Amino acid sequence: MKYIVVTGGVMSGLGKGITMASIGRILKSRGYKIVPIKIDPYINIDAGTMNPFQHGEVYVLGDGAEVDLDLGHYERFMDVELGREHNITTGIVYSAVIERERKGEYLGQTVQIIPHVTNEIKARIRGVAVKSGADICLVEIGGTVGDIESMPFLEAVRQMQGEENGNDFLFVHVTLVPFTTLKEQKTKPTQHSVKALRELGLQPDIIVCRCKKTLKEDVKKKIAMFCNVKKEAVISAPDTEDIYEVPLLLEKEGIAAHIMEKLQLEQVKEDHEWEKMVERRRKSSHGKKIRVAIVGKYAELEDSYLSIKEAIKHAATELECKVETKWIEADDLEGAGGLDSFFDDVQGILVPGGFGVRGAEGKINAIEYARANKIPFLGLCFGFQLAVIEAARNIANLKDANSSELSETPHPVIDLLEEQRDVNEKGGTMRLGDYEVFIRGDTLAEKVYGEKKVVERHRHRYEVNPAYIERIESGEVVFSGTDRTGVRMEILEIPQHPFFLATQFHPEFKSRPNKPPPPFKAFLEACMRKH
Ligand code: GLN
Repeated sequence: MKYIVVTGGVMSGLGKGITMASIGRILKSRGYKIVPIKIDPYINIDAGTMNPFQHGEVYVLGDGAEVDLDLGHYERFMDVELGREHNITTGIVYSAVIERERKGEYLGQTVQIIPHVTNEIKARIRGVAVKSGADICLVEIGGTVGDIESMPFLEAVRQMQGEENGNDFLFVHVTLVPFTTLKEQKTKPTQHSVKALRELGLQPDIIVCRCKKTLKEDVKKKIAMFCNVKKEAVISAPDTEDIYEVPLLLEKEGIAAHIMEKLQLEQVKEDHEWEKMVERRRKSSHGKKIRVAIVGKYAELEDSYLSIKEAIKHAATELECKVETKWIEADDLEGAGGLDSFFDDVQGILVPGGFGVRGAEGKINAIEYARANKIPFLGLCFGFQLAVIEAARNIANLKDANSSELSETPHPVIDLLEEQRDVNEKGGTMRLGDYEVFIRGDTLAEKVYGEKKVVERHRHRYEVNPAYIERIESGEVVFSGTDRTGVRMEILEIPQHPFFLATQFHPEFKSRPNKPPPPFKAFLEACMRKH
C-alpha cells in the first residue's frame, strides 16, 4: 500500500480538499485504484450536529454518515463511493480509546496520546486502506499545521512513515504564497509553515503553493532551497474560476511525474476522460444562458448548498448551457406585495433542503408562485415538504396545513411517523443515507429517471403524513415515488405543469461531473425550454 498524506499550512480554506481530490483524480487517470480518508481534528464525532454557517454543507454518504464536505469533493473528483470510515475525527478516535480503557483492554497501563491514541489513528488509517483493496491511500489532515488539535494525527503519520517502506510514503504540503501590493510573491509564510512541519519530524516531498498567478521561477527556487525540496516539487496552484480545472493545472505543473517517481509507480493506463469533461465545461460556458433562483437563507448560502451548486454545474455541462444562480433570501418573500420582481428574470425556481421555521413561509410563497405561473420548479427535501404544504393549503383547501416541525396545526400534513415519536434523542430519528425509491409508471419521475427503482441519499426526520395523502392527491398533485412499503412519499409532481418535481431525497449527493442527477438535468432542460 502506498500512502500520500496532505497537510496544510498558513491558513485554512486554501483548498486542500480540492488539491487532494485532484491528486486522486490524476492517479486514477493513470490506472490506479485510490482510497481517500479525511481526518477532521475536531472533537465532534461527526458533522451531523455542526452548524452549516460555520462549517459549510453537511455531506451525506450512502451509508448515512454525515460528514465533512471535502468527502463530497473526493466522491465527485475520484468517482468513488465512500462510507463513514473514510472520515476520522478526534471524537471517533478518543471515544474508541476511552471505551477500550473502560473495558480494561489496556491491562492497567497508563493510557496516553502516544502510543495509544496514535496507535488507534494508525490502525484506522491502515484498516480503511487495506479493506478498500486500493493501490494508493490518500489522507488529508484537516486544519493547519501548528494547531493543537492536529498534533496526534501528525505524530501518527510520522510514525507510519518510519514503519512503512520508504518508497511507499509521500507528503504533500499545501501553503499560500501571497502577493504584496507591489505584486511581489512572498515565500515567508510557506517557509514558516514548512519549518513548523519539520519541527514535528515531517519533511514535505511536494509543496503545492496556492497563489493568484503561477509562481515565478525564482520564487520556486527560493521555496525549494529554504524548504529542502527539489524545485520541480514546488507546484503552483493558481486561482481558477472552475475547480474542475485543478487536476489539469496540477498536471501541467508536473506533479504527477514527481509523485510517480517518489512512489515508484508506473503508468498503468492513459485516460483522458477528465480533460474531455473540462473541455465540455469550457464549451458550455459559452452556451445558452439560463438563470435559476435558489430560495434559501443568506447566512447559509454558498457553502451550505455546495452539492446543489455542483449538481447544477454538472447538469449544465451535459446540456451545454450556462447557468447563473440568483440567491433569494426566503424572508424577503414573506412581506406583502407581489413576487414578480424577484422572479421575472429567472427561468426556474429551486427550493433546497433546510430546517426550522425561519423563511419557511417565504419558501412556500415561492413554490406557489412557481406553480401558479408555470415556472419550472425543483424542490429538494425541505423543498419537497413545503411543496406538499403548499398543495395542501392552496389546492386541497386545508387552510392551516403545516409541518409539525414548524408549528402546531390541526393539519400536520408533514409529521413524524408513529414509530418515530418515542425516540426523541436529537438526531436519533433522522432517516439517513441510501434508500430505494419506487417510481410509479407513466409519470414525469419515470421519464426523468428512465427507471422504476432508484437508490438515493436521504437526510430528513419528517415525512408526508399518511392520513393526508389521499386528500392531497385528489387535486392536481401526484406522489410519483414512494419507499418500498408505500408508506413514505418520496417524489411529488404536477402533471399539468411544464415542470414541477420535488423529492424527499437529495439527488445532489450522487452527482458527478459527467453524470448529473436526472432531476437536475430534467429541471434545467425545462428551464431552457422556458427561455
Ligand atoms: N427539516 C426537514 C426534516 O427534518 C427537512 C430536512 C432537510 O431538508 N434536509 O425532515
